[in-house]
Amino acid sequence: MHTSTIPSIHLESRQSVIREDLLALAQFCDENAHAVSFYFSLSSHPDNSHREEVLMIQQLIKNIVAKPHTDHGVSKDLSGIVMAAEELRYAPSRLNAIFACHDQHIWQSFDLPAAGSVSRLEVRRHFHLAPLLRAIESSALYCVVMVEHGKARAFVVHGTEIQEIRARFKPEDLSLHSGNSRVGWSHHVDGNQQERARAYLKELSWEIHRFMEEQKCLRVVIGCRDDLWSDLEPQLLNPERAALIGRFHTPNFDVSPAEVLQATKPIFEASLQRRYEDLSQTINEGSSHGARGLDQVLDNLEQGRVQKVLLGKPFPEMVAECGQCGHLHAGTGDKCVFCTSSTHLVFAEEALIRKALLTEAEILLPGPEGSYGRNEVAAWLRY
Ligand SMILES: [Zn+2]
Repeated sequence: MHTSTIPSIHLESRQSVIREDLLALAQFCDENAHAVSFYFSLSSHPDNSHREEVLMIQQLIKNIVAKPHTDHGVSKDLSGIVMAAEELRYAPSRLNAIFACHDQHIWQSFDLPAAGSVSRLEVRRHFHLAPLLRAIESSALYCVVMVEHGKARAFVVHGTEIQEIRARFKPEDLSLHSGNSRVGWSHHVDGNQQERARAYLKELSWEIHRFMEEQKCLRVVIGCRDDLWSDLEPQLLNPERAALIGRFHTPNFDVSPAEVLQATKPIFEASLQRRYEDLSQTINEGSSHGARGLDQVLDNLEQGRVQKVLLGKPFPEMVAECGQCGHLHAGTGDKCVFCTSSTHLVFAEEALIRKALLTEAEILLPGPEGSYGRNEVAAWLRY
């Protein structure tokens, strides 16, 4: 469990996090507690010079340097963060995360399009992962399709960023009469204009299906007028119905991508809240498959029984972690109950997250800025 894996060093900031990254970060342990985790993001900016951001980062670092344990390796990493901060000032609204351990030649940085303000620097045995997982969850990819009579627009949203995929859906002139010689259209339609419109929406629903597969998106938002929606909804294929997280009404088809993002952001956030509420309710109702509270969830994670874990608000409790076998137990005993080796106190939230990642449990982590806001530690069990 505590063999320290050494991922390759990436000097460039990466703009996405893959599962292997999370596993490598979760497995990492530095016996000397020299693992540096740094997060920085601001949702509003005092001025265009971004001097304020640099001062905030410098203050974070001063707080750490003032502690007596700061040694040469940690100082090197902190200097690296000061240098990186000069770059961060130009994109402070993205989440910048750096995981470094000079002693073990680790420097991994991420630059994610996640909203919210975070400013955190930790120097510990393990990397601090909660803000990274929250950023991944809040910037999960989703597709947006805007539909109008005979035409549609395609977008992909990644957190605070939206990209329009131009000309993804071919427009059709639905006013044409049957018998028109246009190839690929006349064979679909043999009747009045209403049938043409229905055939167009049927074909469009297939194209939406292909578009989502191309983008590897599991969620979609549709933007269209109410009258058009009643025609489109019956045509949607089953995977897209299941993936639909919401719809918005817009009287104007030719809005800017920024306006589309403004309309879909609350829909996406509400879908995350529903996900937390649904899991919480399922755990409450299915008592034999549910675990509640830190002790129960910890026990079940140790046994590899947890399928999904829900960690409500960030919580300050600490738990004991064995330095030898990695076993976690609630309370502050200084000897491991299994191997009698010495234990260390670690943040319970971080310990649960690491254990969940390493036992392939899904982690639901509502952000502190969301509306979920419950002090809840709960899990749905595999058996
Ligand atoms: Zn142990």
